Amino acid sequence: MQHFPIFLDLADRPVVIAGNGAFALAKLKLLLKTTARLTVFAPEPEADLLETVTAQGVTLHRRAAEAHDLQGAALAYAAHGEADADARFARLARGAGVALNVVDNLEASDFITPAIVDRDPVTVAIGTEGAAPVLARAIKTDLEASLPTGLGPLARAGKLFRPRAEALPFGRARRDFWADYYFRTGPEVLAEAGEELLDHALEALLQQHLDAEQEPGRVDLVGAGPGDPELMTLKARRLLDAADVVIHDRLVPAAILELARREAEFIAVGKEGFAPSTPQDEINAHMIRHAQAGARVVRLKGGDASVFGRLDEETEALSAAGIDWSVTPGITAASAAAAAIGASLTRRGRNSDLRLLTAHDTKGFADHDWRDLARPGAVAAIYMGKRAARFVQGRLLMHGAEAATPVTLVENVSRPDQRIVTATLGDLPQTLSEAALAGPVITLIGLAPARAQAVLPDLLEEFA
Ligand code: SAH
Repeated sequence: MQHFPIFLDLADRPVVIAGNGAFALAKLKLLLKTTARLTVFAPEPEADLLETVTAQGVTLHRRAAEAHDLQGAALAYAAHGEADADARFARLARGAGVALNVVDNLEASDFITPAIVDRDPVTVAIGTEGAAPVLARAIKTDLEASLPTGLGPLARAGKLFRPRAEALPFGRARRDFWADYYFRTGPEVLAEAGEELLDHALEALLQQHLDAEQEPGRVDLVGAGPGDPELMTLKARRLLDAADVVIHDRLVPAAILELARREAEFIAVGKEGFAPSTPQDEINAHMIRHAQAGARVVRLKGGDASVFGRLDEETEALSAAGIDWSVTPGITAASAAAAAIGASLTRRGRNSDLRLLTAHDTKGFADHDWRDLARPGAVAAIYMGKRAARFVQGRLLMHGAEAATPVTLVENVSRPDQRIVTATLGDLPQTLSEAALAGPVITLIGLAPARAQAVLPDLLEEFA
C-alpha cells in the first residue's frame, strides 16, 4: 500500500485549485461537497467553470497563483491539464509545503483522489494506487447500486444517538443494537414514517435492547477450508463476521482472519510444522473462559474441523463446561487437493473407497491396513505425511504395491503459493526431498493430475 487512505477534516480550511477548464471544474465540484474554503486561480476561466464558481460563491482570482497564495493551504490541486502550468504551480505548492495533487499525474502528486460513493455521513473511498481507474469506477457503480440512498439519514440520526447507546454495555450488546437499527428497524421506520421519527425509533429500540436478556456465550467450531477465502462456506463467513473472539489454528492464513471484525480478539493456537503445539487443555480453557464471559467464540480450524482436528476433545470439554456449541464443516485438504489436480477421489471400477490417513499418531508412525492400501487402484490422502514418506513407501511396497503407482503431492493447496509435485511410489522419498516443500503438504496416493495444466507451475519452475 503506497497511498494510505485517510479522511481529512477540511471544515473551513483553505484549499487552492489552479486551472481554467474541465479538470479544475471536476475537482471543484468534488470539493464543494466539503465545507472547505475554496479558492480558484484561473487567468482565463472557461464558461462552465465560471458559472459554478459564481453560483457557489467560490473565490476566483483571474490570475496565476503566486507563492503567498498557497501559504497555510490544506490542499492544492494543479488542474490546468498543461504540463508547464501544472509544473509551475507544483513548485509553488512544494515551496509552501502544501500537499499537492496534479491531475492525471501520479508521480508528481503527494496524494490522489479516490473514487467516492457519497451517502454523507457514510463515505466510501476506493483507490487502486492509480493503477486502474476503470476498476475503481466499476466498484463505485456496484456500490452505488447496493448502498441504499436512505443510508445518509440513517447514519445522521444514528450519529446523534451514539451517546445514548452507551447505556448498553460495550461490545456485543451495543453492536447488536446498532445492527438491529441499521439493518432492520431503521430502514423500516425510514420507509414507513420518515426521517423525523428515526429518533423515536432509536429510543424505543434502545429500551427493548436494555430490557432484553443478555444472550449467553457460545462456541462455534468452524472449518476454514484449505486457505483460499473463497473456499469458505457462507455460514463460516457469517459466524466469523459475528465473532467476538477468534481462536484459530496457525495454519489459517491472514486473508481469512481479515474477514473477522477488526475489534475481535484473535488467539493463535495449535502448531506450525513440527514446532511445539499449544496443549489441548490450554485451547479448551481459552474457549471456555471467553464463552463463560458471554462472548461469541469462533474456534477456526484449517480444512474441515472433523478431520485430524481433535474436534471431539474440544466439544467434549465444552459440553462438560455446559457451553452451547455447533460445528460448521469446511473443505478438507484432500478435497481441495483433488480439485487442484482435476482428479476424482473415487471412480467407478477403480476405487470404491477412499482413505484419509495420517502418517503420525500419538505413538509415532501410524499403522494401517497396508495390504488393503497396496491394492491396485487404491486411493488414499495422507495428512501430515511429509516426514513419513519413506515409512509409507516401505510399508506399501512390502505389501505388494507397484513402484509405478502414481503419487501426487500438493503443497499449500488453494493458496497463491500452491505447488503440485508428481511422483511415483518408487521415487517418492527422493522426489519429496528434492522438491523441498516447506508448507503443509497433502499426499495423494494412487492419483495423478488429470490434465496437463495442473502441473504447469512445476514445469515452469523447471524451465525458469
Ligand atoms: N483439518 C485439516 C487437517 C489438519 S491436519 C483438514 O481438514 O484439511 C494438518 C495437515 O493437513 C497438514 O499437515 C497437511 O497434510 C494437511 N493440510 C491442511 N491444509 C493444507 C493445505 N492448504 N495444503 C496442503 N495440505 C494441507
